[in-house]
Amino acid sequence: MFRIGIGHDTHRLAEGRPLVLGGVRVESERGAEGHSDADALAHAVTDAVLGAMCEGDIGVHFPDRDPRWKDADSMQLLARVMWLAGERGYRIVNVDATVMLERPRLRPYVDEMRARLSEVLGAGRDRVSVKAKSGEGLDAVGEQRAVTVQAVVLLEKI
Ligand SMILES: [Zn+2]
Repeated sequence: MFRIGIGHDTHRLAEGRPLVLGGVRVESERGAEGHSDADALAHAVTDAVLGAMCEGDIGVHFPDRDPRWKDADSMQLLARVMWLAGERGYRIVNVDATVMLERPRLRPYVDEMRARLSEVLGAGRDRVSVKAKSGEGLDAVGEQRAVTVQAVVLLEKI
């Protein structure tokens, strides 16, 4: 049995904040605002896995108002959700994600993001795709006010 899930996440960018994507620290003047470490890639993949299992979303499992998740490492939250998926008998078939960020160019970081995600997802690197797009100077991404990530995940029951 196969299950598909989709995840979408946006964070505001601000000066003086770190930018973490897929557990990888990206050198950038502007970082992501938000509770936890504001890792939009980890959040979108987590939501896609939860969606595939019909298990709500990241806010249901790790509420903003809960101090336990303040400055949390989002890759640890993804690891918890993968533990849940394992309990339900699911494993990852593949993941595909697109990170939309104007600056800096993410190409030099993509392999490390795939490696970190692959480790936490328990899936080979050949099953984890991360793509980087700019906003072409348009909308909130293009104006460097936001980072947005879309992710799809396919699970299979083992
Ligand atoms: Zn988020």
